[in-house]
Amino acid sequence: DVTVGVLALQGAFSEHLQLLRQAAASLEKKNIDGSKWRFLEIRTPEELRLCDALILPGGESTTMSLVAARSGMLEPLREFVKVLRKPTWGTCAGLILLAESANRTKKGGQDLIGGLDVRVNRNHFGRQVESFQTNLSLPFLGDSLGKRANQPFRCVFIRAPVVEKILPHRAGIQTEEASREGTIVAPSQKPADDLAKEELQAEVEIMAALSTHSPALQNNQEHDHPGAEDIIAVRQGNVFGTSFHPELTDDPRIHVWWLEEVLKAVQRREQFEVADRTR
Ligand code: GLN
Repeated sequence: DVTVGVLALQGAFSEHLQLLRQAAASLEKKNIDGSKWRFLEIRTPEELRLCDALILPGGESTTMSLVAARSGMLEPLREFVKVLRKPTWGTCAGLILLAESANRTKKGGQDLIGGLDVRVNRNHFGRQVESFQTNLSLPFLGDSLGKRANQPFRCVFIRAPVVEKILPHRAGIQTEEASREGTIVAPSQKPADDLAKEELQAEVEIMAALSTHSPALQNNQEHDHPGAEDIIAVRQGNVFGTSFHPELTDDPRIHVWWLEEVLKAVQRREQFEVADRTR
């Protein structure tokens, strides 16, 4: 069995669970692996320990982080993502928490979990276009979903962050980022084993970007940088983040893709452990 948790402290967790169930059903139809999925709401370190993979939903990152700290979840979450380096996907507020560096906002600076060597800019789209939807094609869906992948995905942005900068590999970025004014950084952590080290060494891949010429942004004078693109989906090894909220649509394609990635990661871990035992 593969157990996938959704952090259920705040935000759109039940929407994620619903799409995960839909995604599992369509994987079953494709006859993938015949594995049985278990989907859980996660609120405690004990529940987190049961998980092979985790989703951090959209919501409000400061609140989510405060609740996590209060319920003793911050350290276990950091261990899950950065020490064990298990598959983790953050949407919107979840992406913010998974960044190594983020800007403070008026609401303050929350404790970050980290895991993605990126800096995010919270509430990037400013006041005029706080929230919008736009259709984007997501090339990474290609392999697993065939023809259906070419259909654009309805991307929902709600006071969304974007990835403003990809940071160089860890050494030194903590201190450099922390010295920037109005910036919060995640504490660094050592990967648990060779497999986790590999995940950490992985490059940050840009999975999707939004043209600032997008019609959805046309009336946004605060956001007028001709020719520029905003990075709205990234992956680094085990960690995946999107600025937008697939959980607020009824399109399970990204969930299907991600569950397939989770399966690959679980199989890699099994092989690694077998090799370790026979060494
Ligand atoms: N702006 C929110 C934050 O900073 C994120 C918004 C969202 O998840 N829809 O946490």
